[in-house]
Amino acid sequence: MHPIIRAFLACAAALGVMAAGADAADKIRVVTTTTDLKSLTEAVGGDLVEVDALARGTQNPHDLEARPSLMVKVRRADVLVVNGLDLDNWVDVVVQGANNSRVISGAPGWVDASRGIPVLEVPTTRVDRAMGDVHPLGNPHYTLDPGMAPIITANILEGLARTGPQHRAAFEKNRQEFLARLEPAMAQWAKTLEPFRGAKTVTYHADWIYFLTRFGLVQVGAVEDRPGIPPTPSHLTQLIRRMKDDKVKVVIVEPWNDQKLAARVAEEAGAKALVLAPGVGSLKGADTYLDAVAYNVNTLAQALR
Ligand SMILES: [Zn+2]
Repeated sequence: MHPIIRAFLACAAALGVMAAGADAADKIRVVTTTTDLKSLTEAVGGDLVEVDALARGTQNPHDLEARPSLMVKVRRADVLVVNGLDLDNWVDVVVQGANNSRVISGAPGWVDASRGIPVLEVPTTRVDRAMGDVHPLGNPHYTLDPGMAPIITANILEGLARTGPQHRAAFEKNRQEFLARLEPAMAQWAKTLEPFRGAKTVTYHADWIYFLTRFGLVQVGAVEDRPGIPPTPSHLTQLIRRMKDDKVKVVIVEPWNDQKLAARVAEEAGAKALVLAPGVGSLKGADTYLDAVAYNVNTLAQALR
């Protein structure tokens, strides 16, 4: 090869590396608290964003500790997407430790995905947090209902567009494409669960109310007497009696709940314990937002048969 051509190729290769490097640096760095919000942010942001979730899919998002490793991630973020409604209130300490003014509450980079969500199970009396109830502002598990995805992705879009206004049209196109995939999936899920309309269920933790309500199913009780608090024996006795009276077939369990207790309650009531995916990545087969919903719909329909 001619030395000049060789030099030219080496130079072009170096430029290529630089271009790739600049490309990565141009991406909007987003941190989300949960894996559901990571998946939905990727749907809106496409290849213009780089998204990292603070909680792993296999971790109960209620229970995270504000570790320094999480602060390091938030320190570099351009945008922070939080679930809100106290599911991830540990993020306040993480943000304080991260010392990143771009993503503090009220800054352009702060996105509360719960804005505009019709919140269910809002307590009618003041909940004393000292008693340990982890849903003091109402039920925070709205991402499990795919019918909420249009609101959530609209909030994410606004947040991304505040940080990268030049990309707004691209974000809008990505979101429309996502919603166009969601719509036929919603119709299919509704059809799959239609035969079980009105079926009565029990959940271990109170995290399925949005999902169950969306598809016309009913929750008659929870193993946890109050969200996040281990049940008393008398509560379990009452619950099992109720389950027998109502002919409840399933107890929906999170992967991190006490599986033995769930199985015992289900067995005594003539039901079965069923582990569903409370978030993206919490179970095999729940690797994206749409896959996680599909997994939950299909697994529940099978169990109710
Ligand atoms: Zn909860």
